[in-house]
Amino acid sequence: MTAIVWFRRDLRLHDHAALHIAMQTGDPIIPVFILDDWFCRSGTVGDKRLFAYFAAVQSLANNLAHVGGRLLIRHGDPVQVLSQLAKETGADKLFFNRDYTPYARKRDQSVCDALTSEGVMVQSCKDLVLHEPAEILTKQRTPYAVFTPYRRLWQTLPKEQPYPIPERWLMFDRLNELPGEALPTLEAFGRKALTGDEWTVQRFGERAACERLKQYLNGDIQQYKDRRDMPGLDATSRLSFALKAGTLSIRTVYYLVHEALEEARGEGVTSIEAFITELIWREFYQQVLFFHPKTTEQAFLPQFEGVKWENNPELLARWCEGETGYPIVDAAMKQLGETGWMHNRLRMITASFLTKDLLIDWRYGMAYFAKQLIDYDEAANSGGWQWSASTGTDPQPYFRIFNPISQGEKFDPDGVFVKKYLPVLRDVPLQYIHKPWEMPKEVQEQANCVIGLDYPVPCVDHAERRKLALSLFQEAKDRHLMQKQNE
Ligand SMILES: Cc1cc2nc3c(=O)[nH]c(=O)nc-3n(C[C@H](O)[C@H](O)[C@H](O)COP(=O)(O)OP(=O)(O)OC[C@H]3O[C@@H](n4cnc5c(N)ncnc54)[C@H](O)[C@@H]3O)c2cc1C
Repeated sequence: MTAIVWFRRDLRLHDHAALHIAMQTGDPIIPVFILDDWFCRSGTVGDKRLFAYFAAVQSLANNLAHVGGRLLIRHGDPVQVLSQLAKETGADKLFFNRDYTPYARKRDQSVCDALTSEGVMVQSCKDLVLHEPAEILTKQRTPYAVFTPYRRLWQTLPKEQPYPIPERWLMFDRLNELPGEALPTLEAFGRKALTGDEWTVQRFGERAACERLKQYLNGDIQQYKDRRDMPGLDATSRLSFALKAGTLSIRTVYYLVHEALEEARGEGVTSIEAFITELIWREFYQQVLFFHPKTTEQAFLPQFEGVKWENNPELLARWCEGETGYPIVDAAMKQLGETGWMHNRLRMITASFLTKDLLIDWRYGMAYFAKQLIDYDEAANSGGWQWSASTGTDPQPYFRIFNPISQGEKFDPDGVFVKKYLPVLRDVPLQYIHKPWEMPKEVQEQANCVIGLDYPVPCVDHAERRKLALSLFQEAKDRHLMQKQNE
């Protein structure tokens, strides 16, 4: 009797539901990871995202080798790979952790149907979230579309404890003899290798994730509430990649955060509670995507599906490159391009700017983020985009439009963040740092930042575009109402 454990977005050994439950059977295990050609070759997945994910897989392979095992890496369609592996080894059980995206659900159902029909027992486990979509429903047994009541119910439900680390690792005896593949490099897929100290396997692995969690709980989490919106302070956890790739378990995170909450006093308490609220947003968007799989393609609020976006390709390119002429937007887009990560406040500002100032359909921005973000998560990304575009569940109301100047002044008051990613603004006096086009000519020269030469002229006028955005949203709403009345 043998159990296959299929790793996907749960690339760790600690507190891993499927691994734990498989080990409980007492059967030797075969840990497997399946490389999907689509993912590696797809132009929709950027180099940094691919690197980070491969690094996390490599780190899992190293950790398994450390406990006397091996991560078997195979290439191809999961149904065929797993069915073949079960035949080859006589494995009679398959364990994996559930994933709630439309693609993953379809894939997992096909795997389940195929292997069950071949006599393999298939068990999927809860691991990605503390509460699965169907666990949190209204009294009418419908999914929540508003966050606050969802959060209230989420908080009252008992939470599972982390699973213990196995005392002994029982691996399939012929594991090392099974044909497998090495993890490919980026170059193998015709991509450029990433260089620089930050692009190492260690940085994206399980150990780095656990250390970061501990470090965060011993420090910055205590001031999360006041500092989380200030990109220049770098005060958020930066655990999003670890939670995306599963190099950290959400049970462990919650358990340790909760311990910290019990010991906290004063500002520490409200800060840790605010941090937990963000973990709940993560689960809220998982359930939105689960119950409304079309929200990656369509507006959740039908009245805004018909907004007549301008979709100017030149403006889209300027936004992607960080060349809009609005420093907070440009610095944020540079942060994304250079690091593969962007601060949450900046995700909101850049998304609002794309949709409400440039009048570009949120789906373009969502796709660009999906390509660039190492922490790309379909549920959080579509949720965040629909929130910012005012089209989603419990969104930012469409008439509340971020002003990129006052957002910059409020959340980067000393210009630390914009200067970091836009060194050309280094000598710009603070009063102009978020509106450099207002600098008189001689000040521009003194600051070595001539607008239109060293730094772009704003590509649109915020006040004008704001009015236009309001009218486009209002028109879409009115048209929708008329259609409804005519039905
Ligand atoms: C337009 C847009 C797109 C986004 N795309 C993604 C994405 O692809 N992947 C992703 O993980 N997050 C996404 N977010 C949410 C959020 O910006 C990131 O989770 C956060 O910036 C990650 O940094 P952190 O780990 O330091 O967060 P912290 O502030 O330390 O939060 C802790 C954890 O809570 C979760 N979290 C925090 N905020 C949110 C949120 N608003 N929605 C869902 N989960 C949240 C994340 O797992 C995060 O790691 C998006 C937000 C917006 C507005």
